[in-house]
Amino acid sequence: MDLYDLYQEVIVDHNRSPRNFGKPEGYNRIAEGFNPLCGDRLTLYLRVDDTGTIEDIAFEGEGCAISVASASLMTECLKGQPVSKAEALFGSFHKLVTGGESEPGVDLGKLAALAGVREFPSRVKCATLCWHALKSALNEK
Ligand code: ZN
Repeated sequence: MDLYDLYQEVIVDHNRSPRNFGKPEGYNRIAEGFNPLCGDRLTLYLRVDDTGTIEDIAFEGEGCAISVASASLMTECLKGQPVSKAEALFGSFHKLVTGGESEPGVDLGKLAALAGVREFPSRVKCATLCWHALKSALNEK
C-alpha cells in the first residue's frame, strides 16, 4: 500500500462514518457553507468557552466524499483546541490543498490525507468548505 492509497482509505472511512456528525447540545456558534460547484452543503456548530477553547464541534449536511471527509477530519482535529490553533491550521490546510508550501511548525496530522486534492483544482472548494464555515462561525460575535 503506498501513501496515496492510505490517504484514500482515510477519506473513504471518514465519508462512510463521519465523526462528530449531528447537532451538539449547547452550541454557541453556527455557520453554514454551500459549494454550488459541487452541491455540498453543511452546517457547522461550535461551543467555544470563555477562554477561547473549542469545547465541542460538530456538523450536519450532505455532499461529496471529499467535503464530508474533510469536515469529519476537521472536527476531529479541532475538538478541545484553542481557537488560535484552529486559525493556524486553516492557513496551513489551505496551503496544503492549493499546492503551496506548508507552514513550518504546524502539524496537520490526519488532515494531510486531503493533500491529493491539490491535483484536482475543482475539488479544492469541497475540501475547504468546512474551513470557510469555521472561519465565519469564529468571526461571528
Ligand atoms: Zn464536493
